Amino acid sequence: MTLSTEPHFSTTGHQTAEPSVVAGLDAWRELNPLQQPTYLDSEAHKRAISELSTLPPLIFAGEADVLKAKLAAAARGEAFVLQGGDCAESFSGATADKIRNRVRTVLQMSAVLTYGGSLPVVKVGRMAGQFAKPRSSDTETRDGVTLPAFRGDIVNDHEFTPESRAHDPQRLLRAYHTAASTLNLIRAFTSGGFADLRLVHEWNRGFLANNANYHRYEALAAEIDRAIKFMDACGADFDALRTVEFFSSHEALLLDYERALTRIDSRTGNPYDVSAHFLWIGERTRDLDGAHVDFLARVRNPIGVKLGPTSTADDALSLIDKLDPEHEPGRLTFVTRMGADKIRDVLPDVLRRVGEEAPQVLWMCDPMHGNTITSKSGYKTRRFDDVMSEVAGFFEAHKEAGTIPGGLHVELTGDDVTEVLGGAAHIEDDGLGDRYESLVDPRLNHEQSLEMAFQVAELLKK
Ligand code: PEP
Ligand code: MN
Repeated sequence: MTLSTEPHFSTTGHQTAEPSVVAGLDAWRELNPLQQPTYLDSEAHKRAISELSTLPPLIFAGEADVLKAKLAAAARGEAFVLQGGDCAESFSGATADKIRNRVRTVLQMSAVLTYGGSLPVVKVGRMAGQFAKPRSSDTETRDGVTLPAFRGDIVNDHEFTPESRAHDPQRLLRAYHTAASTLNLIRAFTSGGFADLRLVHEWNRGFLANNANYHRYEALAAEIDRAIKFMDACGADFDALRTVEFFSSHEALLLDYERALTRIDSRTGNPYDVSAHFLWIGERTRDLDGAHVDFLARVRNPIGVKLGPTSTADDALSLIDKLDPEHEPGRLTFVTRMGADKIRDVLPDVLRRVGEEAPQVLWMCDPMHGNTITSKSGYKTRRFDDVMSEVAGFFEAHKEAGTIPGGLHVELTGDDVTEVLGGAAHIEDDGLGDRYESLVDPRLNHEQSLEMAFQVAELLKK
């Protein structure tokens, strides 16, 4: 399977796109896209975009289709999706150690969920391209100085100086290359033997051993080991254990970046955004008549939309009409992020109506973004208990409505940071400063991630 870099590229046997389909990929430009950078040097911006549009695809359309089929299975209750990673990836954080720790954490959580829930787990990283952040304000003021807000490494630098905060088009290219090297390492980890389920113990090595969840994981890994040895003795075929499929995803926020990485699939003549397997629209840009909905309606990847606490069933149904008019299995995921105190009130009605009219939709729970608070010491944080209460509320709402809780979308890191309050290690307000490293939102650390997986495995059993 090949992907052409030119929309009209064709040789014998290649499908080309209808001219109207290609033209439609730029319709968003007329729709006043929200949350876009402003570049002072528009020539440099044009050059960066033109270079991006000649670079190789990061993923193949066929891979996006494989993920779509897996998401369709999750929507039917035959699999569970785990999507996790940083709130905002950074260029300096794209090191082998940090990437490996995040991949390991997702693999460990998946082992816990698969074993506990007896369901295959579809693994998706908020990785290899999660560089752009929507912000509630265009500017930030510190000690009387006002500068442009940090919008993610793809736009500007976090340091609070005028030079760093200027929007720099070269960063679009650096984001692409950082995504490429991250994805290359993920592919090596997951197909080069590191993800072999027989290494289930190894994934725990190097993490802090002085906690209850570390030991709980060791005990579960021992059970998995025993099961594998038993099956081995029975002569079972273990090819399926050797490698795992790990998909990439990010918020499709910067539309000129996403457009430049959209190519025509030579098998079908359809456009795919080849910057990641799965793209989602955030809570702030999901306006029905807005640019982001228009653009993602036109690419054939599996896509998601965040639904916050003010969402209604009518909102959801209108989004389905635009983004998934054919009701294609696996195409559309709603990621609900309502907050622990609202989900039980708001979600059941939405589920009931959407479930009746569009049962193909996959429902995932983001228990992070509705539960953000500022701690007394001034850190942006979340309480682990609120996060878990939202997850429990998500399962309750689906039970009430008769729909399927299909997955979890979380901000996590494999490092032992102190960004989220609580958990078994009882991180408290005065401990947040010990290792608070996130540039934007607080992430579960390695131990809190395992703890979440153990609790969700219990919910999956019910
Ligand atoms: C995010 O996922 O980091 C994010 C900004 O989420 P939301 O759009 O749900 O606020
Ligand atoms: Mn976030």
